[in-house]
Amino acid sequence: MDEEIHKLWWVFPGFKIEKMITGLDLPVNLAFVKEPTSKPEDVLLYVTELYGNIKAITNDWKVHTYAENLLNYEPNYEFPGTGESGLTGLCIEPESGDLFVSMIYEEDGEMKNQLLRTKSKDGLKMHSKETIIKDIPSIKAAHQMQEISIGFDGKLYVNVGDGMIKPEVAQDDDDLRGKILRMNLDGSVPEDNPKKDSLIFAKGFRNPFGAIWRKSDESLYIADNGPAYDDRVARVQAGENYGWPESMRTNSIFWHNLSQGITALDFMQNEEFPYEFDDELFVAFFGGSYQKGPGIKGKNIIKMKLNKDGTAINSYDIFVKYTGENAASPCGIAFGPGGLYFTDLHGEKDGQMHKAAGNIYKISSVVKEEGEIIVPYTKENADRCICPGCPTINECMKNRNEHLFCARGKTDCEMEKKGCLCGECPIGSEYNLIDFYYCSEGAAKQGKR
Ligand code: SF4
Ligand code: SF4
Repeated sequence: MDEEIHKLWWVFPGFKIEKMITGLDLPVNLAFVKEPTSKPEDVLLYVTELYGNIKAITNDWKVHTYAENLLNYEPNYEFPGTGESGLTGLCIEPESGDLFVSMIYEEDGEMKNQLLRTKSKDGLKMHSKETIIKDIPSIKAAHQMQEISIGFDGKLYVNVGDGMIKPEVAQDDDDLRGKILRMNLDGSVPEDNPKKDSLIFAKGFRNPFGAIWRKSDESLYIADNGPAYDDRVARVQAGENYGWPESMRTNSIFWHNLSQGITALDFMQNEEFPYEFDDELFVAFFGGSYQKGPGIKGKNIIKMKLNKDGTAINSYDIFVKYTGENAASPCGIAFGPGGLYFTDLHGEKDGQMHKAAGNIYKISSVVKEEGEIIVPYTKENADRCICPGCPTINECMKNRNEHLFCARGKTDCEMEKKGCLCGECPIGSEYNLIDFYYCSEGAAKQGKR
């Protein structure tokens, strides 16, 4: 474990943090290839750098320049301010390995948004690019076209900010700003979009920076930046209005009263962490722009559990928190092989007008010492637990999919004891558990049965 890195970042007990890459120039979002090979020279992930570069990182953690100088204007490293826009969203088309990226560009003295599709023969170097959509107005400061995702339906979903200066456009059905767009991979309008001949899938967003698809309900979740209040997470449904500029809470599942600079989000849904974290949502809060030190706003990644229906349980845990002295802060996050990875936009270099300081970190679970836990929280044990048939299990516990209390500890739901089945459970016998009612009392106890 690298002690220096652990002085810069506090991480949740049972996890460690490692620096995988340094020297990136404002790394924003990262995306892992669908099925990485074991060959050191093959691509593992891509990263967008805000000022117009895309880096390909191979399995041996070497950095390759996939594309560079994609911006057609001179960015200026001004944070906060006009330095905050550029090339941001990134998504890999799983079949071809092509990339979709979102960015702003200058035309006739005006800033606009565009979405590109890039191709490569070996995955390491772009050899062609085409524009999928363009001409959506923007400015050189924020609220641009952000994250892109491909849904379980094979369509492309594109988060577009409101452009900042006229937030009312988020409610205008003839304006693509402040919307989540849904399109075919060539940018054409799918026949089953909510409104005929319109790319608009949902409206009423401010600056929807992050997007992720949740397997368990096959839904799109987005992170949307509030003004000074109400950063939010929302589950996006066809034809729905999410309220901005009147409200950031409309149809949201979670909001933070004091804005923390919400950026990216991802679900733990491919066993990168122990099973007890299955389907938990991880959300990055960037904090204030170029805020130095640990700061009172953001500079952390939180984790929270959602109910099966996508509503939020009204609490969260800090999972990662910056504790150093510089402007480092988490921006993009993505689960990948063996853990959660995040970009650190500014890194540890002091001073604003600089390049090549950003990092990629990995957070992974530390294997617990033998004997420290009585009942491991594994899928296999969860499947054998007979709590789901117990009379004490109530609607709240069911809705949160809670069981295996001997491993996970007691519930936060209000509950009434109506009998306990632990004494009849094969796990109780296997581990010689005694005393029971673990949903109410917590920690499992071993003894002579
Ligand atoms: S711990 Fe015991 S009382 Fe609680 S739900 Fe499981 S079997 Fe029922
Ligand atoms: S001992 Fe009780 S809490 Fe543990 S797995 Fe069995 S029924 Fe579930």
